Amino acid sequence: LSLSDTVEAHRICVCVRKRPLNNKEVTKNDIDVVSIPGNGTLLLHEPKQKVDLTKYLDNQVFHFDYSFDESSTNDLVYRFTAKPLVQTIFDGGMATCFAYGQTGSGKTHTMGGDFSGKSQNSAKGIYAMAAQDVFALLKQRRYSSLDLCPYVTFFEIYNSKVFDLLNKKAKLRVLEDEKQQVQVVGLQEMYVSCAEDVIKMIEMGSACRTSGQTSANANSSRSHAILQVILRRRNQVHGKFSLVDLAGNERGIDVRSSDRQTLVETAEINRSLLALKECIRSLGMDSHHIPFRMSKLTQVLRDSFIGENSRTCMIAMVSPGMSSCDSTVNTLRYADRVKEL
Ligand code: ADP
Ligand code: MG
Repeated sequence: LSLSDTVEAHRICVCVRKRPLNNKEVTKNDIDVVSIPGNGTLLLHEPKQKVDLTKYLDNQVFHFDYSFDESSTNDLVYRFTAKPLVQTIFDGGMATCFAYGQTGSGKTHTMGGDFSGKSQNSAKGIYAMAAQDVFALLKQRRYSSLDLCPYVTFFEIYNSKVFDLLNKKAKLRVLEDEKQQVQVVGLQEMYVSCAEDVIKMIEMGSACRTSGQTSANANSSRSHAILQVILRRRNQVHGKFSLVDLAGNERGIDVRSSDRQTLVETAEINRSLLALKECIRSLGMDSHHIPFRMSKLTQVLRDSFIGENSRTCMIAMVSPGMSSCDSTVNTLRYADRVKEL
């Protein structure tokens, strides 16, 4: 393992990843409206209409730390985003990596990868690659003397409620003590002895996440999934890496035709994503006021937003099609705001 071939971790790194047009979009003659010319730049060609009804393309320019085009592999994305953060937790810091974007834009593909092996896009995700690097570093002499013990938790937040994905979706309470320490009561923290152990937990948790999904149940695209790799030293937390597959931020939920549950869910998702943006921004500004109580998501991630040695990476996923333009604009503006300090 060599971390020296990767960039040094910035405190906040904001990237975008564009997926290829899928078969469905190609069949519907959807057009690719996103181009990535290089150096972190992304161009969005948004179709618009003038008052005289003539159509034109409104070209908008965005700049990010990295912009990954549709030919980028999970491996490449990992190398420039989450990989540098593995070092952070060995150095006693807190690291977080978020996958943000509308449903179908590639969040789970990037984070969890594809375990079935059936898909054409079979690829290891960031979860598995980070787990491998954690164990590679644990074996290095400079860290083996620290006696670090790795543990894993995997849970989901749906409608402000926390469910343990490593324990049959048991519903858990979140408590904050007088020192503002936040605790998820009863969350299973599993000891892991190798990367394969972590991968087994991820498979188990992912299956748990998507099982029993009916209309009356939580749809996985409407919940946040959080995988944490915790390094303990003499039972104290030495470092923690949280890898978050966020709920879809889709636009255009029709208020009149949607049922009550969908509206409540959507309001809750919007609130937590807004809270997340504010918390990451205050991390970047070294602010002493971190509005982590604004949502359950930011509350359980409180540790990650405090401290000298906290690092965050956000990967904003975009679908390339014209039909997704509204959501894509939304995603790019959000990512832009996170980056801008
Ligand atoms: P999300 O989790 O954001 O809802 P998914 O990760 O489930 O989206 O992706 C939706 C579909 O698109 C999946 O079938 C996935 O395999 C495919 N996909 C996503 N990103 C890519 C990519 N970069 N390359 C190829 N296929 C992708
Ligand atoms: Mg998903």
